[in-house]
Amino acid sequence: MSLALDSKPDTDKLTTYFRCIAGCPGKHSIYDVIYTCPICGSLLEVHHEREPLKKRNALQWQQLLSSRASTSIWPYGSGVWGMREWVVPSLADENVVSMFEGNTNLFWAERLGKQLGVPDLWIKLCGNSHTGSFKDLGMTVLVSVVKQMMAQGSSVKAVACASTGDTSAALAAYAAYAGIPAIIFLPAGKVSTAQLIQPVCNGAHVLALDTDFDGCMNIVKEVTQDNSIYLANSMNSLRIEGQKTVGIEIIRQFNWQVPDWIIIPVGNLGNISALYKGFKLMMDLGLITRMPRLVAAQTQKANPFYESFKNGFKEKISVTAQDTLANAIRIGDPVSYDKAVTAITETNGIVEQASEDELAAAAAKADLTGMFTCPHTGVALAVLTKLIERGEIKSSDKTVVISTAHGLKFTDFKVGYHESTLADVNSQHANPAVHLPANADAVKAEIEKRLG
Ligand SMILES: *Cc1c(COP(=O)(O)O)cnc(C)c1O
Ligand SMILES: [Zn+2]
Repeated sequence: MSLALDSKPDTDKLTTYFRCIAGCPGKHSIYDVIYTCPICGSLLEVHHEREPLKKRNALQWQQLLSSRASTSIWPYGSGVWGMREWVVPSLADENVVSMFEGNTNLFWAERLGKQLGVPDLWIKLCGNSHTGSFKDLGMTVLVSVVKQMMAQGSSVKAVACASTGDTSAALAAYAAYAGIPAIIFLPAGKVSTAQLIQPVCNGAHVLALDTDFDGCMNIVKEVTQDNSIYLANSMNSLRIEGQKTVGIEIIRQFNWQVPDWIIIPVGNLGNISALYKGFKLMMDLGLITRMPRLVAAQTQKANPFYESFKNGFKEKISVTAQDTLANAIRIGDPVSYDKAVTAITETNGIVEQASEDELAAAAAKADLTGMFTCPHTGVALAVLTKLIERGEIKSSDKTVVISTAHGLKFTDFKVGYHESTLADVNSQHANPAVHLPANADAVKAEIEKRLG
């Protein structure tokens, strides 16, 4: 074929590509170093053309995904790569960077649900993962694409992000697994040992800067400008492709039935956008016929999305985020705002907020039924409680709460609660250890007092 006749750029043939969420024309290869629309500056999204995917019908897709789940077959045993055709179909096997993330447990919270008045309550434990949060789902995709870019001779030589916690832990782990250098920017003196130690252990270049998170973000953007260092913050929409598998996985775990509600704690609004994107794909391919109603749960100390919702999404509101126990969602100017507005409006969703006291009480109450909830999950559970009280969520509704991180990453929060030392929190469920002499009578008396 003559090259002269074939004047259209190669990207026209792609069926999976980056496109502008605001609708500007243009397809961009997902292996290009590009984060925002070159025409209008909006975020990009990975778009999968539906026609090629419709070669399989809904039942065939269900059977395919179910047959791969939790197997040890490379790379399909991963919860993300088991849906590879819907994530990054063009990625070569040898460039998949996966530790078989996903396939996390979705369990019936029987006792807590009965206490709250919603017996059909389920918890999706995304924190049961390599680095202890759902961020692993996005990073396996981003780092895999970078590995393929490097294999194809791209100028990228490292990955970088600004973060105080879960994002940097996930990036550092996946980069280390792939042997790709990672650079982590943290605000000096503002992160706990637990937040610092994961990237340190994984051999990342951890740079603590004399500024706050926003200051770190500005530096990362500048450092990544010459395209030799790839930006892994959530404006990079490759992460959304991995994170969207959570919603699909929930539906598979319910044997392809759709729950009535899904409640998720939100900050930068990437994860709720991802959840919606997964459901939209399933609707388009006929795997489901209705949407669950999505609930975005915010901390009152960083509630710009709640304020925007109250305002009917007439305009995007930004706030100055205050200190909060839910520090992974301490974000005042969320980057994925537009995508999240679509997620709420298209699912008849709700945005609600919770105070420090409410989130801590909700987490403690859940723990008393056998959980070990992170503060962000506490925000979601507090919002669940409010929506039940308001009559919005009915006792017969099937409800899922997405638990975004493992409670063991937040032991300071737990210890503070049970020692009654947290600011703005009344530790009504505190259960501190009691100190007794090593004396059987004293011990018996104490047990008698407690068990009666
Ligand atoms: C990142 C994170 C969130 C918020 O996700 P967004 O995509 O920023 O809305 C919630 N909980 C935990 C534990 C997180 O790490
Ligand atoms: Zn655009």
